[in-house]
Amino acid sequence: MDKKEILSKFSTDPERYYKVKLFENEGFMRKSCTICKRFYWTIDENRINCPDHSDDTYSFIGNPPTKKRFDYTQAWKEVESFFQKNGHTSVSRYPVVCRWRDDLYFTIASIVDFQRVMGSKVVFEFPANPLVVPQTCLRFKDLENVGVTGRHFSSFCMIGQHSIPNSQGYWKDECVNLDYRLVTEQFGVDKKEVVFVEDVWEGGGSFGSSLEFFVNGLELGNAVFTEFQGDLTNYKTLDQQIIDMGAGLERFAWITMGTPTAYDCCFGPITGNLIEQTGIDTDSELLVRYFTEIAKNFERFNDLSEVRKNAIKSAGLSNEQMDKIITPIEGIYLIIDHVRTLIFAISDGALPSNVGGGYNLRMMLRRIISTMDRLSLKFDINDMIDMQIDYLNDTYPELEETREDVKTIIAIETGRYENSKSRMQKIVSKLNQKPTVDDLIRLYESDGVTPDYLKEMKVISDIPSTFYSKLSELHQSKKQKEQDQLSLEGLPETELLYYGDDPEKFDAKVLKSFDQYVVLDRTSFYARGGGQEPDHGTIEGFDVVDVSKHGNIVLHELKEGAIKEGDTVSCVVDSKRRGDITKNHTSTHILNSSSRSILGSWVWQHSAFKEEDHARLDITHHSALTDDEIVKIENLANSVVKKNMSVNIDSFDRGTAEQKYGFKIYQGGIVPVKSVRIVSIEDFDVEACGGTHVKKTGEIKLVKITRTKRIQDGVVRIEFVSGDTALDYAKQHDVDLARESAELKDKAKLKETRHEQKQELREKLPILVENITACKIGTNNVDETIVVMTEPGKPNFCSAMSEQYDEFFHISLGEKLIEKDPWMVYCGVFEDGDKIRAIIYSGEQVGKDKKAGDIAKTVSEVLGGAGGGTQRFAQGGGKDKSKKNDAIEKAKTMVLGV
Ligand SMILES: [Zn+2]
Ligand SMILES: [Zn+2]
Repeated sequence: MDKKEILSKFSTDPERYYKVKLFENEGFMRKSCTICKRFYWTIDENRINCPDHSDDTYSFIGNPPTKKRFDYTQAWKEVESFFQKNGHTSVSRYPVVCRWRDDLYFTIASIVDFQRVMGSKVVFEFPANPLVVPQTCLRFKDLENVGVTGRHFSSFCMIGQHSIPNSQGYWKDECVNLDYRLVTEQFGVDKKEVVFVEDVWEGGGSFGSSLEFFVNGLELGNAVFTEFQGDLTNYKTLDQQIIDMGAGLERFAWITMGTPTAYDCCFGPITGNLIEQTGIDTDSELLVRYFTEIAKNFERFNDLSEVRKNAIKSAGLSNEQMDKIITPIEGIYLIIDHVRTLIFAISDGALPSNVGGGYNLRMMLRRIISTMDRLSLKFDINDMIDMQIDYLNDTYPELEETREDVKTIIAIETGRYENSKSRMQKIVSKLNQKPTVDDLIRLYESDGVTPDYLKEMKVISDIPSTFYSKLSELHQSKKQKEQDQLSLEGLPETELLYYGDDPEKFDAKVLKSFDQYVVLDRTSFYARGGGQEPDHGTIEGFDVVDVSKHGNIVLHELKEGAIKEGDTVSCVVDSKRRGDITKNHTSTHILNSSSRSILGSWVWQHSAFKEEDHARLDITHHSALTDDEIVKIENLANSVVKKNMSVNIDSFDRGTAEQKYGFKIYQGGIVPVKSVRIVSIEDFDVEACGGTHVKKTGEIKLVKITRTKRIQDGVVRIEFVSGDTALDYAKQHDVDLARESAELKDKAKLKETRHEQKQELREKLPILVENITACKIGTNNVDETIVVMTEPGKPNFCSAMSEQYDEFFHISLGEKLIEKDPWMVYCGVFEDGDKIRAIIYSGEQVGKDKKAGDIAKTVSEVLGGAGGGTQRFAQGGGKDKSKKNDAIEKAKTMVLGV
């Protein structure tokens, strides 16, 4: 459906769709803008144009329309107390990481807090009615505007005013009445300044009218009335109508302060502190002039660089003023904004990475660093984190708990960026033309090169306006869900006995039987779900090999055998298998909480898998685990096992469970049912979970981590075993360890002996050489390993063979011998692994006739191999160990000729 069509239809019947009691009571007139023709409501007779096209657009900058001044924190107190006075419950913000929706990474609007997806339907669940909430929302679509336009933020506080029209809640009349009174009575804006503009909203098959309210051209909020479903030719009123009024808290603060930008009043003293650190000469009159022009031009031009160019011209700023004042101030605004967003996201458990929602966070941190580098700003990120958390403490005290964790993550991520800089520099140096938007996306996605880095390197001067929206589209909602393939229509819900008495043996009626599949009226077979593998066992004697859930129907798959529909069958669950899987499941919960308390608050379950003999838990964590961390996690888990804590399972209404335990219960992902099954291990761990669990942690006996691995950016896998498998593993592990250490000892001993022998030989070498050269005419045994044959003026021969002698020995001895006796030929034979090697030296006097190379060649042939070398030195060898003596004999004959 086209929004324009809905608007033109609704505008033809303003009495029905737009006219609220307030307009009648206060004498509002309905007018049409002379420029854009939009319809709006005002009590000002002289107004001729809509807020976007009036002369008073952004006139509050430097001249606020209220007597009282409220900064960000105070503005929320005003809003909250106004709504509380008027019967609203003030609800704490929900996490910015949207774990209860599988189609969103981050919370993008206050209404998302109360939306739960069930099947293909979105239902609303309100913890109170009516209510108001200061919801931090993250939006990455127009990051390029942040810091520049004066009013765009990557995260902002949406004042959510929500109501269901029933005996407690209200509908359009009261909503608009309250919003008007909030602006005029509580904030003190003159009634004449408030303008309501007619608009519409549509999404997810529903639509309705909406009234945007403006003061001095600034849109403060938008009251959406979700009212109809169907299409424009045929629509009916929804069963569940909803008031969805969202207003920007930043804007409420800004309009009362009238500062040049919203950034000047929404970060408390931080903006001023940073500007002071840089010593920029801020001329407030100049800033008012410039940012008023920016605000006005923003509606007129699509391209941000055009907006900027025109504002510079209209405000009459010199290049020097731009470079020395505006550009660095824009950088400071951007940095403060991005730091605040990272604080919220990391506090709520998101990690910068190259996947999913982590993309945007990494991008933002890199923008912060690039901007500081480009502008030579030397801010300490930790100081900025401290200042922000201190300032936000009144509204968001929960951020205090994660103060240090946020710093840890930012430090790790900053280090990674610094390390990748030289690589990025290389990539950038190879760019030979100005990159397109697609190039920029590719550069970031595959090489981590951000456009801000390119700006810092002066490769580009501006970031194209479509870059962030494109990137955000690519990564915003890729969360996917697989769809059921089988059609089991008409069958009733299967009664799940494993949530009740959980009998090992039971009888059931066969409702449907086809191929190898059986549907029963009731079952105690656990169906695969929540990472827990299915039960096995038998149905009527046939093996059950798989069990799966399709909607609320459980399907059993048999290995073979046919079962008749209508029969009553007897079923047996393999309780040994179930018991082992169950221990692994409870262990998963224990390890998850153990990891969080050892590593940090950013640890969440990413996914899990529990089989009979092994299991794994994937957690969100920035780095691979160290041995020390693994030991600590395992020890903590086993201390929980040892304490024999009770595992309790209770069902709660979803809203109650969320309010009572918070969103940490969604470790295993979203729960698409109204009643949530809460599994708690005393005060150690609480999770929403549909799996099977032990009653006492002591049943687990032991948890052993068998392996850990970083499987993707920001995710670490922990493989483990529990119960008897863990005991066996530990026993085997001990045996392995003992064997390994015995082997190591043997090896070390052997090495040591060898080493000692070598040392001895080295010391012996000079004496041996002396003894050999001193040998008398004839055959001499120097010892049992060395034989020498000498005859003056004729070739002499020395051979050596022993297990103790290695290559080093033979080379050393051969060298020295032919040096001392130029008539000497040396032949050393020794074993080296499965080979026999020979080393030959020939002295200067004999070398011409008795070349070492020739001798080595022949000797090697005897040994069944090959060899060769020079006149003086040669080596060779073979594999035939039985020919060692033959080889020496052959060499001797070659030398002495006998
Ligand atoms: Zn207009
Ligand atoms: Zn679980």
